[in-house]
Amino acid sequence: MHQPAISHLAAADPVLAQLIEGEAQRQFEKVRLIASENYVSTAVLEATGTVLTNKYSEGYAGKRYYEGQQFIDPIESMAIERAKSLFGVDHANVQTYSGSPANLAVYLAVASPGDTVMGMALPAGGHLTHGWSVSATGKWFRSVQYGVRKDTGRIDLDEVRDLALAERPKLIFCGGTAIPRTIDFPAFAEIAREVGAVLVADIAHIAGLVAGGAHPSPVGHAEIISTTTHKTLRGPRGAMLMSDAAHAKALDKAVFPGLQGGPHNHTTAAIAVALAEAAQPSFREYAANIVANAKALADALVARGFELVSGGTDNHLILMDLTNKGIGGKPAAKALDQAGIELNYNTVPFDPRKPFDPSGVRLGTSAITTRGLGVEQMPQIAEWIDRAVAAGDDAELTAIAGEVAELLAGYPMPGWA
Ligand SMILES: *Cc1c(COP(=O)(O)O)cnc(C)c1O
Repeated sequence: MHQPAISHLAAADPVLAQLIEGEAQRQFEKVRLIASENYVSTAVLEATGTVLTNKYSEGYAGKRYYEGQQFIDPIESMAIERAKSLFGVDHANVQTYSGSPANLAVYLAVASPGDTVMGMALPAGGHLTHGWSVSATGKWFRSVQYGVRKDTGRIDLDEVRDLALAERPKLIFCGGTAIPRTIDFPAFAEIAREVGAVLVADIAHIAGLVAGGAHPSPVGHAEIISTTTHKTLRGPRGAMLMSDAAHAKALDKAVFPGLQGGPHNHTTAAIAVALAEAAQPSFREYAANIVANAKALADALVARGFELVSGGTDNHLILMDLTNKGIGGKPAAKALDQAGIELNYNTVPFDPRKPFDPSGVRLGTSAITTRGLGVEQMPQIAEWIDRAVAAGDDAELTAIAGEVAELLAGYPMPGWA
């Protein structure tokens, strides 16, 4: 049963409540390997479901446009102070609705339409909002994109530097959605300094690892840091912008009134809860375990003949090219889902196939680590993946799904009792 209970919802809207219960049970029974997902704590869930959703509070603490902010102001200030202290930054804005609008606010703060901007190409592992052509950021700015080396699957910082020197972007994004390796923030900072660009570290995927000391911090290297709060950081769906003192005002103005109206106060409260959780010593252990699990899973997959982009992982994420297994990413992801293993099909660098039918899949270990799975379970997960990808019939997939559910029954899930 969903935790906290949704009995009022069940009475008012039984069909919807059934669907939510179904989703909760699905999350309980599946090995969830989508690299951008996690399980939030019951405390975070509770915060998102409060009356704070009723309140409008355009503006910032002490400077609001509506009355009645006696409780909202301290809640938002708590979230801000916790973000500043956890990441060691001068400034934090916790109002951005999600990662994509947060990045849009960065453009609004430091660039003008038509300016040259630089980011990692989507097919190489960057995010849409780093200037990819179909995104507003690629349409409204002159975007130049860097990738990875074909032979190593890693970012080539000499190429990034040459491109930056030739194109002189106003803003450089580092970070992405499918980068299995450590981001070299000092090297990016040196390039940005050399060309006079603002460096933006988008740590959406790795924020929890940074907070938990399992990935180097961009603080002191990137002037602006953008992050979602719901991936490895294990908070509610939302985002934060952090920066040095020099960019504080411009970022705040870009978020409100530049892009948004009223902040989602229930989300702000839940972010505050998640930030307090991430400041606990146990979160450092969590972050280290995520990385240990990813390495163990990567090793077990390699041992079964799977090809990993860049050969392995430094963080929570594995990008797998299935070409040598004779199956596309999409049919593999569908078969795995049937087998109780949830991940997403993904392009691999230099993918000869189309984005909607690419060669690879992406896996992450943040959710299964929250469930309490450890390195000793990773060979089993690799075995299931191997069997499911090779499975000839539905019976085999159903059999695997049974084994998966049986294992997970022993690992509690926050949000489900
Ligand atoms: C997930 C992600 C985003 C976007 O976040 P949404 O909340 O989905 O809009 C932005 N940048 C990176 C690097 C991401 O991984």
